[in-house]
Amino acid sequence: MTTLDPLPSLVPLAALLAGLLGLAMGSFGTVVAHRVPAGRSVVRPRSACPACGHEVRERDNVPVLSWVLLHGRCRDCAAPIPWRYPALEAGTAVLFVLLVVALLPALPTPWDAGRLLAWLAVVAGGVPLVAVDLAEHRLPFAVTGWTAVFVTAGLVGGALAEGDRALLADPLAGAAAWFIVVGGLHVLTRGRGMGLGDVALAPVLGAAAGSLGVGAALVGLAGAFVAGALVGTALIVAGRARRRPAPRMLPFGPFLVGAALLAVPCGQPLADAYLRLVGL
Ligand SMILES: [Zn+2]
Repeated sequence: MTTLDPLPSLVPLAALLAGLLGLAMGSFGTVVAHRVPAGRSVVRPRSACPACGHEVRERDNVPVLSWVLLHGRCRDCAAPIPWRYPALEAGTAVLFVLLVVALLPALPTPWDAGRLLAWLAVVAGGVPLVAVDLAEHRLPFAVTGWTAVFVTAGLVGGALAEGDRALLADPLAGAAAWFIVVGGLHVLTRGRGMGLGDVALAPVLGAAAGSLGVGAALVGLAGAFVAGALVGTALIVAGRARRRPAPRMLPFGPFLVGAALLAVPCGQPLADAYLRLVGL
């Protein structure tokens, strides 16, 4: 009897490619975070130093590496380049690699591949969205819209290629749950708690979280509010300690994106543990 050698796993190669793609998408994400809030094109003109106006050369535009080689300064005028640029690039690349490791089995089906594409889109769009929300308390619809296009394409394309439309039931349920809860809070708080940007982003993240299972989508949704409440309370307590007024409003986008990402490793295990706890 002969035994077949197992096919070599695609995961290491996919992780390497995802890391490189993540660096490139992270670099694009810094441009998006910088230009979209100002209503400028993300394609033209090429990036220039905001201090001296010199166009950034090709060789100085390599993600992370250029910043390190230039010691974080413009080649022309030596103005400092904020560390958040290489941080966003490296962070996107790390998240891309982690998603491949978490979501891609050794022998991926079309649905596995489509779902991975959806989650890569969540990171590629979510990182600049978080950056803009932290800086300006808003989530530009253009970035959310493009993220929605790629999340939908990944999930619908994966399900159709798999020949199993039922795979879309859980993502639809997740999208509905996130939209109803965040949209409902927007209406109840008359827009003071949740902005319309949060309402638009919620179903996109809910659909991605739902691709892991309805339980994961619900755990992620609950996690966003628990984390938001904890951080909000901590900021109020810290503000009182320093005799400063509490921040007027906490941007909620970072909690939505962060909770959706944490649902990838933790969502379904926590949901299963909860069901066991209540005896179901
Ligand atoms: Zn310069």
